[in-house]
Amino acid sequence: MGRRTRAVGIAGRYGARYGSTLRKKVRDILSKRYAPHTCPFCAAKGTVYRISTGIWACRKCGVKWAGGAYIPRTGLNKYFPKIVIREE
Ligand SMILES: [Zn+2]
Repeated sequence: MGRRTRAVGIAGRYGARYGSTLRKKVRDILSKRYAPHTCPFCAAKGTVYRISTGIWACRKCGVKWAGGAYIPRTGLNKYFPKIVIREE
């Protein structure tokens, strides 16, 4: 990352707007969202992407599942394991 956005990282997309405290919070969330996630079904790394808020899919095995808004799995998955929608 360049020196220009060293403090807020990915939240540098917001320029000078919204204040540095909010941009730092957004950075923490966005960096989790775009980090390479491991598929919880086929264990492939970096194949997971977010379709929409809370909806995640894996490029390799094609599974779609409901997860967190910004992370594929939340702590709740121990109570609601593997609720899977497969698209044929
Ligand atoms: Zn997968």
